[in-house]
This record gives sequence, C-alpha cells and structure tokens, in this order.
Amino acid sequence: MKGIDWESLSFGYMKTDYNVRCYYHDGKWGEIEICSEDTFNISIAASCLHYGQEAFEGLKAYRCPDGKVRVFRMDENAKRLQSTCRYIVMPELPTERFEEMVKKVVRLNQEWVPTYESGSTLYIRPLLIGITPQVGVHAARDYMFVIFVTPVGPYFKGGFQANPYAIVHNYDRSAPLGTGSYKVGGNYAASLYAHNLAAAKGYASEFYLDAKEKKYMDECGAANFFGIKNNTYITPKSSSILPSITNKSLMQVAEDLGMKVERRQIPYDELETFEEAGACGTAAVISPISYIDDLDTGAHIEYGKEPGPWSKKLYDTLRGIQYGIIEDKHGWTTVVVE
Ligand SMILES: *Cc1c(COP(=O)(O)O)cnc(C)c1O
Repeated sequence: MKGIDWESLSFGYMKTDYNVRCYYHDGKWGEIEICSEDTFNISIAASCLHYGQEAFEGLKAYRCPDGKVRVFRMDENAKRLQSTCRYIVMPELPTERFEEMVKKVVRLNQEWVPTYESGSTLYIRPLLIGITPQVGVHAARDYMFVIFVTPVGPYFKGGFQANPYAIVHNYDRSAPLGTGSYKVGGNYAASLYAHNLAAAKGYASEFYLDAKEKKYMDECGAANFFGIKNNTYITPKSSSILPSITNKSLMQVAEDLGMKVERRQIPYDELETFEEAGACGTAAVISPISYIDDLDTGAHIEYGKEPGPWSKKLYDTLRGIQYGIIEDKHGWTTVVVE
C-alpha cells in the first residue's frame, strides 16, 4: 500500500492512479476507458457547465478485517443514477456497466484503499455530464461518465460523536416538485449559502423544512434525518429529499433489530418528542444529533452529548455489515478485491 498516513486524511481529494470513463455519442455508450490523468478537455460551451446537466453518486470501498475489499449496495447507486438521468434527460447507464466500472476502478486503485485500522475508506465518485457544445437550453447529445476514487479520512476522528444542527426557515435546497430527490450538483449549489450560515455558528449542518408548508422536517444538508422514540425508527417521507441508500439500509437494519419503522411526514413539533435523532448518509453512516437549534425562533431541542443506544446499535450493525464483520443476510456487499 502507498506510504500514506491514512488516519490523518480529511474528506478532501487526492489524485490516485486511475479513473475509468465511458462516453455516450450517436445514441450509444462506448467502451470503458482507463485513464491515468485526472483532468479532461471539454468545450467551454459544454452544456454541463452552463445549465447544470450533471448527476453524481457517492459510495465507498472498505478494506475489511479479513483483508478483502468490499463495496456496499452499488446496484442501488446505479438505480438512483438512472432515476436522476430520467429527470434531467440524460441517457441511463445500464446497472451492469455501472457495476463493472466501479469494480474496475477499485481494483486498479487497490493500493489506495486505506487500512481497516485507520478508519479511512476509498470514496468512489461517479459523475455524468453533458458535454455537447451548445448555448441553447436543451439536453446534450453527448455525455461523459467518469468514476474516480480518492481515499478519505474517518468521519469520526475521536470515535462516534454527536453534533449540533440548525434549522433554517428562510432557505430551501429544493422544491417539492423539483430536483430534491435527484442527485444533481445544483441542489448542492443551492444549499451552500444556508450551509455557510449554519457552519459559521458552529453547527455541523443546516436542516431544511419542507419547502411548501414549512411544517415538516425534510433533510439535513447532505444527509437524511431520522428520529427514534418508543423503539420506532421514524424518517421523513417527502418528495424533496434525496432517497439515501444508508437510510434505506438503516430502516431494514432497524426492522432486523426488532424496531418498528415509520416513513411519514414528521411535523416540526414532533422533534422534541424524540429520544434520539440523527443524520445518515454514506460519509458518516450515522451522525447522531446532540441538539437542534432553530435559528429563527430560538427553539432549542436537546438529544444529549452522547449518541443514544439505538443510534449506536444501528451504526455498529450497518458498519459491521459493510466491513464483513456481521453476517450480510441481505446480500448488500460485493467483494471487489479478494
Ligand atoms: C447523497 C445524499 C444523501 C445520502 O445518501 P446515501 O446514499 O446514504 O449516501 C442524503 N442527502 C442528499 C441531499 C444527498 O445528496
């Protein structure tokens, strides 16, 4: 393995040896190309640059205690990318091709998969962009799909920790009938301002309410939300949140652990009734919430400095499955390097 201090990595970017690419021209996908450069040449008029015809995904490869490298539910990432493509009118990449490329890019860069002990992982970033030069607003004819990887540090450097979140009333990241449920870069651009407001005040992330009524909980910046009470895992149902694969998996794990699971609207007023609350996504699995402040009303809801027992159990179980430590009874993991 590369002589890198894996433990001190952040969630940044480091060039690795290879990325894999696939172009779409004349109505069809081409062959998989292996590339050692981490730049590309596109026209200044490429449509992705001007009108945001861009979709991405995020998943990880884990070096496991048994020495193997596993990836988690990549078929779900392939399906979600296809769903994004349908909405922003891009050609869908078949699941088999997506999986083949993920395996290939991880195998080619296997020396970049951090050690198990470091807590770091290899982040996998698929990206699909429209590259036809045009200034008219319509879908591109040509596309580039690329997957690159970069080692990223452990989300919790000092162990599993709880963080504060801030509710923002005056900003929306997406509209109820808009792109909120699709993984497009534009949603992130739309969230940066509110994110900076929350971050400047020391919060881990901003927390959005539903854009239409401002009555229900939506999601936390780049992560889904869940609350726990009476042995029940409750997570928002909304047309403007991104369907998190981590959340979907946690719902299954919660059920497997004997919890009840509810996916429904969560009224703002219900927040104070939860015993535990957390944000979830690939980066952290679970980021437990210590307290939520409402930046406009001044309301303060406390969940505690320490992660709650259910959050800890859910986190340990899902992480255990990802690392091949706990039995993968749903067939979620794929061994990519033996
Ligand atoms: C990617 C993403 C998530 C988390 O999804 P996972 O599949 O669990 O990583 C949550 N919210 C938003 C807005 C996202 O873009």
